[in-house]
Amino acid sequence: MMSQTMKTELTQFMEGLHTEGLFKAERILEGPQGSRITVGSREVLNFCANNYLGLSDNAEVIESAARTMERWGYGLSSVRFICGTQRLHKDLEEAISRFLGMEDTILFSSCFDANGALFEPLLDEQDAILSDELNHASIIDGIRLCKAQRFRYRHSDMQHLREQLIGSRGCRRRMICTDGVFSMDGDIARLQEICDLAQQFDALIMVDDSHATGYIGQRGRGSAEHCKVEGKVDIITTTFGKALGGASGGCISARAEIVALLRQRSRPYLFSNTLAPAIVGGTLKVLKMLEEGNPYRERTVANARHFRERMTEEGFDLVNGDTAIVPVMLYDERLAVRMAEELLKEGIYVIGFSYPVVPKGRARIRVQLSAAHTPDDIDKAVAAFVTVRDRLR
Ligand SMILES: *Cc1c(COP(=O)(O)O)cnc(C)c1O
Repeated sequence: MMSQTMKTELTQFMEGLHTEGLFKAERILEGPQGSRITVGSREVLNFCANNYLGLSDNAEVIESAARTMERWGYGLSSVRFICGTQRLHKDLEEAISRFLGMEDTILFSSCFDANGALFEPLLDEQDAILSDELNHASIIDGIRLCKAQRFRYRHSDMQHLREQLIGSRGCRRRMICTDGVFSMDGDIARLQEICDLAQQFDALIMVDDSHATGYIGQRGRGSAEHCKVEGKVDIITTTFGKALGGASGGCISARAEIVALLRQRSRPYLFSNTLAPAIVGGTLKVLKMLEEGNPYRERTVANARHFRERMTEEGFDLVNGDTAIVPVMLYDERLAVRMAEELLKEGIYVIGFSYPVVPKGRARIRVQLSAAHTPDDIDKAVAAFVTVRDRLR
């Protein structure tokens, strides 16, 4: 039973979060995800979803998911290897492998699980992992679950990575791990240099492309396509919960031998339920749409460019980049939270990010653009930023 002392401690902790302005409130949506969402009773313009291609409420995707559910059932009530693999799951694995140009793919309930599944079966005490300091929490947790020696290099600092590759000489296997697009700064990993280093030092490369798959690169194949290193990345993990329709699910695409091992040994695959048919059907539909041409991607990119240009003209401090993640830097934690609240009053839904999601003193509002936005939506957002900045001065 929870003691009175513990109750008091937890209550004090929560009060602390409120006073420091660090409390993360959950806002309730009254309808589907999209460029316009209903928060409470108000319709607002949404600039904080990972809905890069605007497919979360796409009619064809919904229709396909519904039809798949009717044909293949609601759920599998099993893990994959017992009685939870339908023809559909193999189709999706093949479709992703083809889309990403990889040999084989293994599905998970989320990319968080994929990253939790990857390291422990492949690497042990004799091995080393070299990880960018800004990598996603799920990569960090996945690494924690394995016994390999850990080397953390400064964000996108190739000299530092090189030093650590030198320092880890003598290890049996080495794996360089990086986000393809970094979620808080929206910058793209320096994959050309990483591939050169990996080749020189005989290391594996793992890229988590959750914020890239579907819209980064000429055909939306992700950061490897953008950096022109397709075929050189050994392992790609990604999510279906962002650009690819936004429901849930994730995967690891890799060399065939790696995927074969993961099917035998990775714990989230062996001990967690199969991805639901509706999600598999929806994701298959998204991939088919993207194979047939990807007009969404061009809109996402054009929208991001338009927002960056207008905000720069208005004198805002942005982190530069060419993705649809645009951080508006405010540095001060309370200001970021206040500003996001005021923007919501103006009908613009964005989130202020503070510690521990970003480093202390690096608070910001992260704006995310989508193919679903119109140029007019973006101009409204910029106007609201200007109004609120003047109000809070
Ligand atoms: C969102 C994200 C994840 C988690 O993906 P889920 O499928 O939602 O679990 C993992 N890695 C990165 C880099 C992400 O941005």
